[in-house]
Amino acid sequence: MIPTIVSTWPHGLSANRAAWPILSARDGDGSAMDAVEAAVRHVESDPDVRSVGRGGYPDRLGRVTLDAAIMDDAFRCGSVAALEGVVHAVSVARAVMERSEHALLAGDGALEFALSVGFERERLLTADTLALYEAKQREARAGTPNFESHDTVVSLAVDPSGHIAGASSTSGLMNRLHGRVGDTPIIGSGLYVDGEVGAAGATGHGELAMRVAASALVVERMRCGASPLDACRSVIDMIRDRLSPRPDQQLALLALTTKGEVAAAALLPGFAYAQSDAEGHRMVSVEA
Ligand code: ASP
Repeated sequence: MIPTIVSTWPHGLSANRAAWPILSARDGDGSAMDAVEAAVRHVESDPDVRSVGRGGYPDRLGRVTLDAAIMDDAFRCGSVAALEGVVHAVSVARAVMERSEHALLAGDGALEFALSVGFERERLLTADTLALYEAKQREARAGTPNFESHDTVVSLAVDPSGHIAGASSTSGLMNRLHGRVGDTPIIGSGLYVDGEVGAAGATGHGELAMRVAASALVVERMRCGASPLDACRSVIDMIRDRLSPRPDQQLALLALTTKGEVAAAALLPGFAYAQSDAEGHRMVSVEA
């Protein structure tokens, strides 16, 4: 069914609602690329989402570093890694794609580029997130930390013309070393789009997705004839069987074909995504 947009986690629902008017524009001209960017920007702006953009959780040095990516159906892509001080990392990623000759900019260079093309610098660490960070540091000193966190926003959309695009943004895993970059900005790991087949994205323990180029694998399996569900499940099974993740490590994969078919699979229970199409906006829970 097209148009369709899917976005990870419960915050994906308001993200989809924000993007739907763009995707379903009455003149039939909705743009998948504009829609996924709008969906992700919506989550980046929300200070109550602790894993993305403003209010995102800091690294071990207390610094909020953002990773984001965007990709269209002609293998054009842009990413930023370890970007500090700019809330809409996904839009900086789009600027990398459209206004530079590169695919990925990191750290100070990503910030310099963002400022040079007109983005504003701001403080992203909110008082609430700082309080949570300090509480976690106390737990860590007491030897009882729970650092599992995995709420990257990934949005995938196919528009009325059949164009497909994907975008993602995260502040990364809690308790990461300063300088750690996850799967989100790595094309093929946290996000991949092939205009002849479909798109896939990952959320959860990024290192697991990076070790097998999980999103590209899902899309390639769909290209070889697998359904989106079989493609997602087979990659999750491979990660479970051959990478031996820790029992508390989550990884979820979400896929969308150019025909609007959607599926997901996850290592652990608890993953859900939002789906929006002609039948409305709804959450879908994924069984592990
Ligand atoms: N995949 C992200 C990372 O490893 C974490 C997340 O999904 O929130 O940085």
